[in-house]
Amino acid sequence: MKAAAFEYQKVQSVAQALSLLQTYGDDARLIAGGQSLLPSLNMRLSSPTLLVDLNGVQELKGITKQDQVIRIGAMTTHTEIENSELIKEFLPMLSQAVPHIAHRAIRNLGTWGGSIVYGDPAAEWPACAIALNATMVIASSHGQRRVAAQDFFQDIYTVDLSAEEILVATEFPLSVVTSWNYFDELSRRHGDYAIAGIAMHLKYQAGKVESNEIVFFSVGSTPLRALKTSQLLNGQNTNALADPSLNLQLVNQVKEEISTLSDLTNSAMMKTHLVGVLLGRALKQIPTLS
Ligand SMILES: Cc1cc2nc3c(=O)[nH]c(=O)nc-3n(C[C@H](O)[C@H](O)[C@H](O)COP(=O)(O)OP(=O)(O)OC[C@H]3O[C@@H](n4cnc5c(N)ncnc54)[C@H](O)[C@@H]3O)c2cc1C
Repeated sequence: MKAAAFEYQKVQSVAQALSLLQTYGDDARLIAGGQSLLPSLNMRLSSPTLLVDLNGVQELKGITKQDQVIRIGAMTTHTEIENSELIKEFLPMLSQAVPHIAHRAIRNLGTWGGSIVYGDPAAEWPACAIALNATMVIASSHGQRRVAAQDFFQDIYTVDLSAEEILVATEFPLSVVTSWNYFDELSRRHGDYAIAGIAMHLKYQAGKVESNEIVFFSVGSTPLRALKTSQLLNGQNTNALADPSLNLQLVNQVKEEISTLSDLTNSAMMKTHLVGVLLGRALKQIPTLS
């Protein structure tokens, strides 16, 4: 199928894009890499009157270190994140996750912002943003607002963003040196969407877990935080984590806590099993820290 006819405008600034969104409201769609939007237009799941192309907007591109945050512009591509030395140094979880996103051709065009706003529960970036305590920076003609990543993803393909707003960037607090990051996913073939995945961030002090965030994706309608399991992990001695009985206790807790949903090919029961497998493997990787 082909998309229904639409008008097209390539803008050069956020202000220009916001003005068009204000005029057209829900009849306009922003286009970034087009990797998710174009298939949905071609399948006529959506028929906007106007496409507003963000590819000319320089202020939305790039990765910068500012005071205490790393800022990723919404129009930064997956490949730019993959190649960034700043990301490798300060946000290694994203470097671990990015090779799992589709294939090179899609990573060259697809953007951070497109993936975040699309809100696919199987996508890698939303889970990482929550695990790393990121903040979404959102612009409208009324000004800017900020939303914590953990509040931004509301339901399947549903995020806290209105038709008249643009995601400008995402900001990450700088990772402290005494932290550990982990990312893993299980998929049928490399580059496929995950059947289940985990993003985990842990801070420690004097050999003990001080705080941690465990997020699962592709198992529910949004990325899911394992809050009770995190609580159980806090205060544990990192060298005690090699103990199989503690590992089993945490795995049982997470399987009870994370409420999974089936997808077209995998049952909820299978996803629950994989949540346990992913956490069990992650715990075995936590180094003995001091
Ligand atoms: C074959 C295939 C395999 C894929 N596999 C994976 C995978 O394994 N993991 C994964 O995470 N993704 C995967 N993707 C999706 C890919 O990562 C897309 O790049 C991403 O989901 C959307 O990014 P985009 O820049 O292409 O956005 P677009 O398709 O251009 O836009 C997506 C949506 O976001 C809106 N939007 C875009 N930018 C903004 C903004 N700044 N502010 C407000 N709204 C905005 C658009 O209006 C649209 O509704 C795959 C895609 C394909 C085609």
